[in-house]
Amino acid sequence: MFPAGLAAAFQQRFTDAGVEVRTGLRVESGQETTDGVTLTLDDGTTITADAAVAGLGIEPLTQLAEDAGLAVDDGITVSSTLVTDDPAVFAAGDVASYPDRLLGTRRVEHVDNAQQQGRQAGRNLAGAGETYDHTPMFYSNVFDLGYEAVGVVSSSLRSVEDWAEPDVTGVVYHLDDDDLVAGVLLWNVPGKTDEARKVLAEAHALTPDMLPGTITAD
Ligand SMILES: Cc1cc2nc3c(=O)[nH]c(=O)nc-3n(C[C@H](O)[C@H](O)[C@H](O)COP(=O)(O)OP(=O)(O)OC[C@H]3O[C@@H](n4cnc5c(N)ncnc54)[C@H](O)[C@@H]3O)c2cc1C
Repeated sequence: MFPAGLAAAFQQRFTDAGVEVRTGLRVESGQETTDGVTLTLDDGTTITADAAVAGLGIEPLTQLAEDAGLAVDDGITVSSTLVTDDPAVFAAGDVASYPDRLLGTRRVEHVDNAQQQGRQAGRNLAGAGETYDHTPMFYSNVFDLGYEAVGVVSSSLRSVEDWAEPDVTGVVYHLDDDDLVAGVLLWNVPGKTDEARKVLAEAHALTPDMLPGTITAD
């Protein structure tokens, strides 16, 4: 997700905290023992631990919706009012593929979206008929670091980095193929997600050289 320099600094924080990070390896097999688990990696080495946690991403459970004849494309397809193609059925959260006002059709796997979309679907179930116009942010807190992001955050995109302190406090703007801002990463810059949404809303008017200083760290 992060630019190379930031990714390296982030990984170093784990190493400094005593975490051994093993990348580019696959788990070949695992065995439960009386003391915990032993994993065998594809380079032949083994790891013994009290427990193993698999963080592998999710696949939305859409079978129920499919069986009910609802449109499904990656997630359950909903309109801007979060209704499926059956007017009596709504979907929200990780499972819903919706048209975002700023970012286009997407399915989001984050808390802010699940909460805001859940509220909106509830209101619309009660007859409000309102558009979901909240472009969600996602966040994480790791050690003493906190980051928030809005839009597409991917190392495959070109980025403009604006650091108050390199890889510690700053803003990364991710650009699409037309050099327009597609995502904003706020690194240890709390409380600025509305400013990030404003940048995305005005992306068409912002050239890359205008971005540094648009969102400040203070
Ligand atoms: C390990 C982990 C770490 C995460 N960290 C972050 C983070 O740092 N920041 C962040 O923003 N997000 C994070 N997320 C994502 C966040 O947790 C999800 O986006 C959020 O929980 C989605 O809420 P939801 O209500 O849409 O779905 P869920 O929380 O998945 O709830 C769906 C519920 O529906 C139930 N269900 C499914 N099918 C049926 C059925 N047929 N009948 C009845 N019930 C059914 C399920 O059992 C489940 O309880 C993380 C997720 C995981 C797994």
